[in-house]
Amino acid sequence: MASLNNLYNLPYFKCMNCYEIIPWTRQTKLYCSDLCKAEANYVRYSRNCKKDGRINRHDIQETLRIRFAHIASGGYPEKERRIPQEIREMVITRDKRHCRICGKPGTSIDHIYGDSNDLDNLQLLCLDCHNKKTISNIVQLKPGDERYFDVMGKKVQLDLRIDSEEPLYECDDEENWRTIYRQVILDRKQTFYKSLFPIIEAFIKQKLGKRKIAEQLNRQNVPAFSGHGKWDRHTVKTIIDLINSS
Ligand SMILES: [Zn+2]
Ligand SMILES: [Zn+2]
Repeated sequence: MASLNNLYNLPYFKCMNCYEIIPWTRQTKLYCSDLCKAEANYVRYSRNCKKDGRINRHDIQETLRIRFAHIASGGYPEKERRIPQEIREMVITRDKRHCRICGKPGTSIDHIYGDSNDLDNLQLLCLDCHNKKTISNIVQLKPGDERYFDVMGKKVQLDLRIDSEEPLYECDDEENWRTIYRQVILDRKQTFYKSLFPIIEAFIKQKLGKRKIAEQLNRQNVPAFSGHGKWDRHTVKTIIDLINSS
């Protein structure tokens, strides 16, 4: 995909968490990977919990351990483990809305083993039992383990970001992140659209209409901002409006 950037002179955007270049195919141009997104979320969540004192609660400590364990093992496989709504409902009905381990009202659906969404591999649990199960599955790394120093290094690095008085990265700013990220996406979108001005202007000179321009962009595989979607006359109009207002 890097070649695409060169071909059309598309801009590169850097990951808010690690400053590597974000692959063009990622839908949201904020993080280079789900792992970076998970790290930034973990840091902000921890900073929030520290600020309001929740950090001392047992359940929050468990949640943080689980979230760090997912980061240490390369990130929670969010996409693979997403359970479609109709399957969720089947599991909830089958398990009569109660935790299969302790009988309390069930709140989360657990993969018994691995990632399969087969009904046989899913069960309804309460949050307590789900956390306990997840924690008992976390392998404690020992100093002899080849990943030990990597994981410990990551822990130190993230703890620094959590404990810093002022946020060290923009994406660590638990208070302002909502505003910051919207602005970053907006700016990046603008930058991207501006990079397409020469192509679009050339099409306009050839007297092509918006629909025809969209067709051309699709034919030449110019990616949309989301990395996936197709161009249509509305997205083309956005750029033409920008050209006219600049
Ligand atoms: Zn990154
Ligand atoms: Zn339970």
